Amino acid sequence: MSTQQTKTSPPKSKGRKPAKPAAKKGATPGKHVYFFGGGSSDGDASLRNLLGGKGANLAEMAGLGLPVPSGFTISTDVCTYYYDHGKKYPPTLRKEVEQNLAEVEKVAGRKFGDVKNPLLVSVRSGARVSMPGMMDTVLNLGLNDRTIEGLIAMSGSARFAYDSYRRFVQMYGDVVLGMKPESKDESDPFEEIIERKKRQRGVKEDTALTAEDLKDLVGEFKKTILARTGIHFPEDPQEQLWGAISAVFSSWNTDRAIVYRKLNDIPENWGTAVNVQTMVFGNLGEDSGTGVAFTRDPATGENVFYGEFLMNAQGEDVVAGIRTPLEISALRKIDPKSFKQLLDIRAKLEKHYRDMQDVEFTIEAGRLYMLQCRVGKRTGAAAIRIALDMVNEKLIPWKEGLLRVKPEQLSQLLRPTFVAAEKEAAVAIAKGLNAGPGAATGKVAFHADDAEAMAQKGDNVILVRIETSPEDIRGMAAAQGILTARGGMTSHAALVARQMGKVCVAGCDALQIDYRKRTMHVVVGGKTITIKEGQYISIDGSTGEVFEGQIRTEPSEVVRVLVDKTLKPNKAPHYQQYAELMIWADKARRMRVRANADQADQCANAIAFGAEGVGLCRTEHMFFGEGKIEPMREMILADNADERRKALAKLLPLQRKDFQAIFKVMGGRPVTIRLIDPPLHEFLPHDPKGQQEIATQLGIPASRVRERIEALHEFNPMLGFRGCRLGLIYPEITEMQARAIFEGAARAMKSGVQVLPEVMIPLVGHVKELELQSKLVHAVAAAVRAETGIKFKYSVGTMIEIPRGAITAGEIAGVAEFFSFGTNDLTQTTLGVSRDDAGRFLVPYVADLEIYPRDPFESIDQDGVGQLMRWAVDKGRAARSNLKLGICGEHGGDPSSVIFCDQIGLDYVSCSPFRIPIARLAAAHAALQAK
Ligand code: PEP
Ligand code: MG
Repeated sequence: MSTQQTKTSPPKSKGRKPAKPAAKKGATPGKHVYFFGGGSSDGDASLRNLLGGKGANLAEMAGLGLPVPSGFTISTDVCTYYYDHGKKYPPTLRKEVEQNLAEVEKVAGRKFGDVKNPLLVSVRSGARVSMPGMMDTVLNLGLNDRTIEGLIAMSGSARFAYDSYRRFVQMYGDVVLGMKPESKDESDPFEEIIERKKRQRGVKEDTALTAEDLKDLVGEFKKTILARTGIHFPEDPQEQLWGAISAVFSSWNTDRAIVYRKLNDIPENWGTAVNVQTMVFGNLGEDSGTGVAFTRDPATGENVFYGEFLMNAQGEDVVAGIRTPLEISALRKIDPKSFKQLLDIRAKLEKHYRDMQDVEFTIEAGRLYMLQCRVGKRTGAAAIRIALDMVNEKLIPWKEGLLRVKPEQLSQLLRPTFVAAEKEAAVAIAKGLNAGPGAATGKVAFHADDAEAMAQKGDNVILVRIETSPEDIRGMAAAQGILTARGGMTSHAALVARQMGKVCVAGCDALQIDYRKRTMHVVVGGKTITIKEGQYISIDGSTGEVFEGQIRTEPSEVVRVLVDKTLKPNKAPHYQQYAELMIWADKARRMRVRANADQADQCANAIAFGAEGVGLCRTEHMFFGEGKIEPMREMILADNADERRKALAKLLPLQRKDFQAIFKVMGGRPVTIRLIDPPLHEFLPHDPKGQQEIATQLGIPASRVRERIEALHEFNPMLGFRGCRLGLIYPEITEMQARAIFEGAARAMKSGVQVLPEVMIPLVGHVKELELQSKLVHAVAAAVRAETGIKFKYSVGTMIEIPRGAITAGEIAGVAEFFSFGTNDLTQTTLGVSRDDAGRFLVPYVADLEIYPRDPFESIDQDGVGQLMRWAVDKGRAARSNLKLGICGEHGGDPSSVIFCDQIGLDYVSCSPFRIPIARLAAAHAALQAK
């Protein structure tokens, strides 16, 4: 190809006077088209909603005097109008487009449709937020059988010109004229013609086709379009332009764009803008090229210019990966002038936008053009580093730095991840809910005891269950990850896994699990894959993906420093950056952050992550520890209160010891201990073998065990004999638990440890339930104080987790010293949706029907459950001004729910230990946003 491109360089800009840099531009009523280029622009970045992200940033860059090929943006309002008026345009639009096109011609020094010196344009979509690849684009528009001569003359290369022409006809045919394959088995009609041509010419690569060949292709493309659609390919550039504009607006409503919007919560009514811009070519020869770059490294955040480029190429060549692009630093040698200019632009953009930018550029015959800039996407680690660096560089204040890191991005720093290259090469065989973030790989075990045994042998294990129950707890603890076929985001598996910091994929209903054969099947693309016990699988609890085989994982640096203590802080740069960010977060937030933890080791992890107390200690989880399940079962199987008391007496010292250990770790921080909550049958085995074992242990007939289990059977156990109802009907259980708490507290104090127990009564709907239970607790406290002579502090409060409790919060606050919102049950009971069975319909409820914007068990349903919470806060505080308010449902670790909790005035949120940093940052965001 010829490299004499001097002819192609547009004449020196005759552009309009540069806009005054400081002036902010507003939307002009009745204006639909906004010009940019030639050192001037009608719009700027503040008009993102109207001009779309791409259009607004092109306008901003042009306003900054950067080399942006001139063009104009047709606003998103026109898209809305187009759909509201049966695909018609506002009456003044044509005139505005004409005027702006004339302006573009002036700046470019070329004319649209001119035979000698034709202006060619690109027509691209651009919504408010980037929707990569979802909508349509047409390049090289303005070419026809006459203007091609002008392009040949301008470029000095017939081959280049015809290649541009055939690409244009191909794109236009596809995007505007609907030339898609006719069936799934057919390939792209244009590609078929190209393939045929290559066969005829005996060549393998497109690049081996000559100008003549490409010219033939243009003719054949047009013929095929006519044969298929009955439409003559438009030779008139104006007709081409309006065809492309309509196609881009129409592409807002293609299936893929609709699906993408749903997945990314982008409202339908935003619409897209259309950007019409002078074409510049990176494939004009060896002094042309194209590339993408980030103003800092998007993976690490390092303050280096990062990117890649290809000489003599178009944008799609960089993306398609056919040729390997060069690192941006290599441009210094190849085109030092453009490289230096890019470095200047990099500095200018960062100073101007005060954030890391992602840019696209093209060099046409040695002349650099900027085609796009936007805030660059980045990893969690990079987000932290960039925020810290930019604060140190005095580009942004620290509060803004804090807001730049999304709370969820922290989880990338806290969880193990798959080795990126290995994950990329793996293909998922199923997908469930992303219930416990992180990556895990291990051998499959289908039973908790097998998982334990395998782990003892040193294997990494993934425990696979249809669903888990409290009996599986030890197997869950032994496993690296947990995979279930049923259950939602607050199912047993999900919440226990999160609390333990285990990776979990729940509700993966494509799995057919056969416990007896110790196998699972999953059908992928019509083929059944069978996985047997002991075979490797890998699960990604951040995406919900399940993979066959082993994918290596990398541990988190932060966890190695804080929890495992296998890494020194000074050897862990990511940890140091995390710690610095957390100092800011703690300075900014109002709400306190506590942990849901029920074992001393979990409490220690929680403190390492910054917990300021325990917000929920589920005492029933403690009954599954060593030596406790037997007396627990004995208590449940007892025939009368005396027998129950005997069994409870065996439990007392065991629970006391556990509480004492928790108090010791928590060192005077508040610890909210919830009395027993789940239905009793959950503590009994449901298989005959397990029942026989208990009968033997207790020396009673197996039939008695069976009868008792049958008697305890409930149709709706979640609405049955559970929560405070257990302690009201069997007060001796409450007495034992209260005693264990207070004796544990007294012993801890005696050993020099400060304590602050908060006894929490679950599932209260009526104030009398709380009155009766509190009276009992206070009586035990008084007795223990008297017996030990130790005046430990304590308080008694309740969970607000059923609607009646929330509605009568004013009365309840007359007795309760604190409320903790149990939003798992409050969601279940307010929505009337079972937290354990909802997966089947909640997924389509959210994804397809858009009934809820997010899974209400993951993120608070603010219009329903949230209103009950607001009511309860207002009534509760009116009755008791110093009422302490918190949340301990799983929502306490969800950033948007944390922000809601701040808005309604809660004192603290409580979440699983590994989510504490996320909640701390979310609470800081909430406080900063409130200001
Ligand atoms: C709740 O209901 O929100 C809660 C924390 O309690 P659990 O999940 O144990 O029912
Ligand atoms: Mg509950």
